[in-house]
Amino acid sequence: MSECIFCRIVAGELPADVVYSDDEILAFKDINPAAPVHILIIPKRHISSLGSVKSDDIPLLGRIMHRISQIAKDRCPLNEYRVITNIGKSCGQTVDHLHFHLLGGRKFD
Ligand code: 5GP
Ligand code: ZN
Repeated sequence: MSECIFCRIVAGELPADVVYSDDEILAFKDINPAAPVHILIIPKRHISSLGSVKSDDIPLLGRIMHRISQIAKDRCPLNEYRVITNIGKSCGQTVDHLHFHLLGGRKFD
C-alpha cells in the first residue's frame, strides 16, 4: 500500500469527491477548501512536485493544464480563477504528490 495519500485516492483506497477522471488525470475537491471552488488536479502517476518533472512529462503537463481550463470553464464564475502549485515544505507543499489547486468563486487580492 502506498504511503502517499494522493496515490491512495487514485487507487480508491481513500474516498474523494471526484470531479474528473481519465487514464492519466484525477481532479477532486479539496478536503479543506480555501474558496467556494477548490479543486485539486493531479497526475495519477506519482510525481513528487513540479520540481521533479522530466521532459517526458511535458505532454502530461499540457493535458493537465488543458483539463484545469476545462474544469474552470464549468465551475468558476466569469471564468476567472487562480491556479497554484506549491513546491517544497517552505513554500507550503504538504502533500508530496504533484497537484494544482484550482481556486475560484471569490475575490483574491
Ligand atoms: P499543499 O499544501 O500540498 O499545496 O496542498 C495539499 C492540499 O491537499 C491541501 O489544500 C489539503 O487541504 C488537501 N488535502 C490533504 N489531504 C487530503 C485528503 O485526504 N483529501 C482531499 N480531498 N484533500 C486533501
Ligand atoms: Zn503519490
